[in-house]
Amino acid sequence: DIGSTTSPWDELPIRDELRGKSPYGAPQLDVPVRLNTNENPYPLPEPLVERIAERVREAARGLNRYPDRDAVELRTELARYLTRTTGHEVVRENVWAANGSNEVIQQLLQAFAGPGRIAIGFEPSYSMHGLISRGTGTGWISGPRGDDFTIDTATATAAVAEHRPDVVFITSPNNPTGTAVAAETVLALYEAAQAAKPSLVVVDEAYVEFSHRPSLLPLIEGRPNLVISRTMSKAFGAAGLRLGYLAAHPAVVDAVQLVRLPYHLSAVTQATALAALEHTDTLLGYVEQLKTERDRLVTELRAIGYEVTDSDANFVQFGRFDGEDGAHKAWQRILDQGVLVRDNGVPGRLRVTAGTPEENDAFLDAVRALKKEQH
Ligand code: PMP
Repeated sequence: DIGSTTSPWDELPIRDELRGKSPYGAPQLDVPVRLNTNENPYPLPEPLVERIAERVREAARGLNRYPDRDAVELRTELARYLTRTTGHEVVRENVWAANGSNEVIQQLLQAFAGPGRIAIGFEPSYSMHGLISRGTGTGWISGPRGDDFTIDTATATAAVAEHRPDVVFITSPNNPTGTAVAAETVLALYEAAQAAKPSLVVVDEAYVEFSHRPSLLPLIEGRPNLVISRTMSKAFGAAGLRLGYLAAHPAVVDAVQLVRLPYHLSAVTQATALAALEHTDTLLGYVEQLKTERDRLVTELRAIGYEVTDSDANFVQFGRFDGEDGAHKAWQRILDQGVLVRDNGVPGRLRVTAGTPEENDAFLDAVRALKKEQH
């Protein structure tokens, strides 16, 4: 459309609420040290790669058929993993799985929100909660967080009482700040949400395996509208697999089946996830190393003179970078030294994912140099 001053977007019969919006997009740049998307830096161990190949070969023999629509074996193994790691017994009927926890969240919003309904999250938090809300026609309310990035129980419950949302998102540990949420706060928000009218409370525990605190999963007992969302993208080092899951009352699992696409979870995905679950102990060993590295990043960043938010995740929020566009300029200076971190748009702050010890050393060298420049 050369010569035209109107963009094709102007003519596109797209939904009004999507017009002019940007898609989710962390830059995927080819630099030596990538610490920007909270991935696990360790490739899957070779014995697991072998086991995946074996299981996928088996699955390939049946690819002329649709996969197990209810993913029974996978949900059984996920339930076993949750029971073993939280000490709270859950069974297959409590568990649902989809292509990444993003799809789990989308299915929850399709079933429990949508046009005429609203969802709330306490920001800054995971931006996809708001974006998937918008994509499903759900209204979005940006709830408050304190200056220290924690959720103040009184302020947050007041926001829930005021807006009477249909879905409440609580991210613990929170992305991008790393902040864990106390069980008492979750319970207070759950009570506030039920007082207004029955509504769904989703605790997004994508990073919980890295936390100093235990999972909030046991809270689902006796709370039929509480959902715990999880993923194999972080602790299992399998972001490329696309496997997320939830634990909740069996009625929630029944409800999402009304909106899931038939056979949404391919046989190859199910086979790969099952292979990964056989190697849980090895993978959780990497998690321990990453927790140590995360704690080292916090300590060293503070020693250099940065302000650092306490972290229960596999990443660390640090700053402050004052002045106009301070965080973005710092992001660029760190990138100039071959290290990609994330500018999430939190004023004056950046986020770095814990990588291998060598990657973290490269990052620390870069921010040490940056600190010297700023003095
Ligand atoms: N929840 C949170 C808080 C996240 O940070 C992410 C990924 N960045 C997700 C959910 C989605 O992860 P996935 O779809 O890979 O499971």
